[in-house]
Amino acid sequence: MHVNCIMCGHRFDLGKSYDDYEGAVRCSTCRGLLEVRTRDGQVKMVRPFGPPGGNGYLTPQTQAELAAEKAHAAAPASVGAQPGAGNATAA
Ligand SMILES: [Zn+2]
Repeated sequence: MHVNCIMCGHRFDLGKSYDDYEGAVRCSTCRGLLEVRTRDGQVKMVRPFGPPGGNGYLTPQTQAELAAEKAHAAAPASVGAQPGAGNATAA
């Protein structure tokens, strides 16, 4: 089963183990985290993972991973940036 990354447009194969799946999938191309929902081998929903405010979707493991990435991405140059400014296209 294939999913199109809505952030970079890359199409990647999730394999049969994701034919009935709901949760986070990481794009290997842009490292973006997608929330994917599939049923019977068909993609029902793809959207950027982690809505502001959170809806309880994040597992503790995913939260830890996101926190680690956030800390890693917080370069000194980004000090003063508005939290949640949505500047994903700045790069
Ligand atoms: Zn991507």
